[in-house]
Amino acid sequence: MENCIFCKIIRGEIPSKKVFEDEQILVVEDVSPQAPLHLLFLPKKHFENCLDMTINNEAVVGFILRKAGEIAKELGYAESGFRVVQNNGAGAGQSVFHIHFHLLAGREFAWPPG
Ligand code: AMP
Repeated sequence: MENCIFCKIIRGEIPSKKVFEDEQILVVEDVSPQAPLHLLFLPKKHFENCLDMTINNEAVVGFILRKAGEIAKELGYAESGFRVVQNNGAGAGQSVFHIHFHLLAGREFAWPPG
């Protein structure tokens, strides 16, 4: 998508702090971290959120969850716990309409979330 900020990050047109990349996904540090660890998992193929999913997007979502667990474990957060968050729609806090999963760790997390 031409004007999507995350598509621009994926294309390298906007700088980012890259943590992992393969042919399907890019993992970068969030520019405004809400926890000591705050990473964003971005599928390279643009779709907005859960409402914009097709069967073609299902596999990458599963891959992202597995990869989030792997990275959290590698960085030492398996014991303490971590949170994976994905917002759908402005009313739920989505500000960038290219689906992404937040990996947050390194502090206490309240429930219910704010
Ligand atoms: P959401 O509110 O769930 O749509 O999350 C969007 C996230 O993208 C926020 O946590 C922002 O801090 C983050 N963000 C926005 N622009 C950038 C950027 N250029 N690089 C990294 N993270 C960004």
